[in-house]
Amino acid sequence: MEKRDYYEVLGVDKKATASELKKAYRKLVKKYHPDVNKEPDAEEKFKEVQEAYEILSDDSKRSAYDQFGHAGTEGFNPGASGGYADFGGAPFDMGDIFNTFFGGNMGGGFGFDFGGGGRRVDNSGTDIRYRIRLSFDEAMEGREYKIKVRRDERCDECGGSGSKSKKEKECPVCKGSGQSQQVRNTIFGQMAVVGTCQNCGGTGSVVEDPCDKCSGSGVKDIEEEIGIKIPAGAYDGMVLRFGGGGNAGRNGGSVGDLYVEINVDSSPKFERRGNNIYSEMNIPVYTAVLGDVVSVETIFEDVKLKIPKGTQAGTIFKLKGKGVPLFNSPKDRGDHYVRINIDIPTRLNRKEKELWEELKG
Ligand SMILES: [Zn+2]
Ligand SMILES: [Zn+2]
Repeated sequence: MEKRDYYEVLGVDKKATASELKKAYRKLVKKYHPDVNKEPDAEEKFKEVQEAYEILSDDSKRSAYDQFGHAGTEGFNPGASGGYADFGGAPFDMGDIFNTFFGGNMGGGFGFDFGGGGRRVDNSGTDIRYRIRLSFDEAMEGREYKIKVRRDERCDECGGSGSKSKKEKECPVCKGSGQSQQVRNTIFGQMAVVGTCQNCGGTGSVVEDPCDKCSGSGVKDIEEEIGIKIPAGAYDGMVLRFGGGGNAGRNGGSVGDLYVEINVDSSPKFERRGNNIYSEMNIPVYTAVLGDVVSVETIFEDVKLKIPKGTQAGTIFKLKGKGVPLFNSPKDRGDHYVRINIDIPTRLNRKEKELWEELKG
């Protein structure tokens, strides 16, 4: 079924203000609410009204709709294929960092990290966060990026235990409890605050004979250059997770992960929504009237587009498969929508003026 115009659905003018929209919406929601209205198509109408209001009540969605019609709101649609909604907030698991260095592939499937968990006192290594800024074109193509990461690596002398003989003894500061008590002055008066023992890091034990190389910490501070493969189609705010790329834990604790957040600059030519690209193009009035084949700039290539004779300003053409590469299936791409503007000549020479006059008849 062809989608109806959102303004028509709400029965308002294209210039309707936010409060006019709200008023119309409230009225229609009451009218079509399935609890009230028992007509067979009430529920469908109810949903249609809700969708129209969802788009028109949001300024950026409304302007996208005004510009590109229903096509313009596709990228916003939760659940629409390739929409941001599909990306989710969870980081993309890039597998073990040692497999993702240059030369390695991107690792297995894209899993999600359900990690997190509560704050425990343990020796686990902390995660490292890193941010990479890419131009729009770089993000479309994907690229390998070298980053310098300063991290704690497991001490190879003691194998991370921190101890020459791998023996531990009770922490003399906290007597093995792992906790320290401090009295703090707060606005409620003095309060006893239980914290983590600084001497043993909360573990309650310390090494007996510290390793010479790492002074008992079990880790060494290194700076490492790491090659990161950023998939084509990476989007602003995307987070890549590299297992084992974080800090090694103290005294043999587990290794944290490396998280790389991607920031992508916007493009002056293209607007991205989900995996679709939107652009505008000006054509001469003759082309609009007589029709022609024009060349449209898309993210990777110029695409020939047939402009039929009598094309109106504001017509939108869909260039299938010329949008953003899907990063988990780079051979597939979203679509490109181009909106046509018509250049009306503003200066006419005498001959041209005569010709237009003649046309006017
Ligand atoms: Zn050591
Ligand atoms: Zn202690």
